[in-house]
Amino acid sequence: MDFSLGPEALRWRDTAREFAAKVVRPVAADLDAQPDPRDAWSWDIIELADAYGLRQAPLPAEFGGSGTDHVTNVTVLEEIAAADLGIGVVLGVHWKIAQVFHAMATPDQRERHLSRLAANPRGLFAASVTEPAAGSDNFLPYTGPNGGLRTRAERVDGGYVINGVKHYISNANRAEIILAYARTGDQGITGFIVPAGTEGLRIGQVHDKCGERTANNSEIFYDDVFVPDSDVLGTPDTARQDAISAMRAGNTYAAACALGIARECFDRTLSFCRSRIQGGKPIIEHQAVGSYLADMYVNVDASRTYVLRAASEATRTEGYDPALSIVPKLLVSERTFDSARRAMELWGGAGVMRENGIEKLLRDAAIWLHSDGTNIIMREKLADLLRAAS
Ligand SMILES: Cc1cc2nc3c(=O)[nH]c(=O)nc-3n(C[C@H](O)[C@H](O)[C@H](O)COP(=O)(O)OP(=O)(O)OC[C@H]3O[C@@H](n4cnc5c(N)ncnc54)[C@H](O)[C@@H]3O)c2cc1C
Repeated sequence: MDFSLGPEALRWRDTAREFAAKVVRPVAADLDAQPDPRDAWSWDIIELADAYGLRQAPLPAEFGGSGTDHVTNVTVLEEIAAADLGIGVVLGVHWKIAQVFHAMATPDQRERHLSRLAANPRGLFAASVTEPAAGSDNFLPYTGPNGGLRTRAERVDGGYVINGVKHYISNANRAEIILAYARTGDQGITGFIVPAGTEGLRIGQVHDKCGERTANNSEIFYDDVFVPDSDVLGTPDTARQDAISAMRAGNTYAAACALGIARECFDRTLSFCRSRIQGGKPIIEHQAVGSYLADMYVNVDASRTYVLRAASEATRTEGYDPALSIVPKLLVSERTFDSARRAMELWGGAGVMRENGIEKLLRDAAIWLHSDGTNIIMREKLADLLRAAS
């Protein structure tokens, strides 16, 4: 398998690198330090992402994109997340949902919703699954009567009425279009298109996270939200299966964001260890320090290789290994957390001083142990595949 990037992917990597260096990096630390999570958000960055062609990049040209492939997308996400995780996640989440939407929407839905979103430089998607009483249950999934989604969509004349509460939802308070997932039967889950401003849709608290602060997550209240039949996404009752097959690469996008943090930990720590003198020589010359750096190198290189493999396999029509939509986030988030911990130690006291930004990398790395499904649940899903194969 050839892991070298083609000319298109390299061009996009350079675009992302420039966007990260000129737009994201200069303001990331200040935004991260805002006490109110709403102030950590920057519309300027989103509008500039649009100007760089990044906001809609994976979509076809008719929806403002360039049809970038998964290998290109993970390469771009690594670049942006190395500068700031939150901005990488805002785009990665939007891209993932935009691709699910494009794959599942009718031509009429694309025309009405995707064209409008494409024309708005602030246009973003959010997808609301998680609820206060239903987190991991949605990922396993657990289908017992005492678990899973509480949000319900009742059939009425001409459509559905949704009632329920969601939380932790990425981009929710900033999105132009929210996908709402609700029960439409005992086991059936249906996806609904809910534009911002729809009557009965209300954003609750914006969660105050320890890391990934430049991305917002919030509660959503659905109080008698009417959705017409024309805005049901995909086939009623089958949203879970449909969304999984429409977006195998989602887990890999998450891994690519985590990889950006690991790379940043390594690059910054390598340079620090070359310049910091203790014991009469640069600390990189001490054997124990060198072995930590070697581990951090392995974390980055092995993670990137796996991310590229999973991204290149995600569009395979036959012989796809479903582990490739589980392992990337599991592997890379844990390698990244390990790198952040080692960086904290190698920087000595400077690691915990906010002015140096290493503690931010540790806070950002912590996000991926739970986001997009906890790693325990990733292991459980992988174990299920192994049990099924035995
Ligand atoms: C930064 C961030 C962004 C997010 N963005 C979104 C989003 O855009 N949309 C969305 O819908 N959701 C989103 N989420 C929610 C996320 O998917 C959930 O937080 C995650 O699935 C875990 O659910 P939970 O927090 O309810 O934890 P719980 O499910 O309550 O888990 C608590 C602990 O119990 C363990 N556990 C639970 N069930 C089992 C089991 N059956 N077997 C063994 N162990 C178990 C878990 O591994 C975990 O350690 C986001 C979360 C975060 C942190």
